[in-house]
Amino acid sequence: MDSQVEAMAGAAPEATKIPESEIQVLPRPSVSDAAKDWLCASCLNRVASDQDRFHYDGKSEFTFRNPQGIQFDILTFSRTLGCESTGTPTQEHTWFPGHAWCFCVCDRCGTHLGWPYTGPSEFAALIRERIVRALLVRN
Ligand SMILES: [Zn+2]
Repeated sequence: MDSQVEAMAGAAPEATKIPESEIQVLPRPSVSDAAKDWLCASCLNRVASDQDRFHYDGKSEFTFRNPQGIQFDILTFSRTLGCESTGTPTQEHTWFPGHAWCFCVCDRCGTHLGWPYTGPSEFAALIRERIVRALLVRN
């Protein structure tokens, strides 16, 4: 009996070792912060924090239609994290009077996530169905 226990304890864990090159060193947000994160629904890149929700006219959730009749449910944020702005800002068909918009894409996978707005206020509107709460992804 004793020799059997000894044999098991002596089993080398070599097989489960991860090669150094596969260990990624990334700054990890704390668990409580992660729960507030919004991620790109396509690649799970962190794109916004719920702490940065921006209230326009007292609201931070809107539903709009573009000129093509496509409906978008959007959330507004005072800033975004993993987003890249592209295009030339324009006020044409703007959903927020006095504010110019361009495009905001995920800086990892390029998915169109929403629109940054500039003008009297600076904020970004992200498309609800293209982002997910980190809380629902990580467990
Ligand atoms: Zn992405």
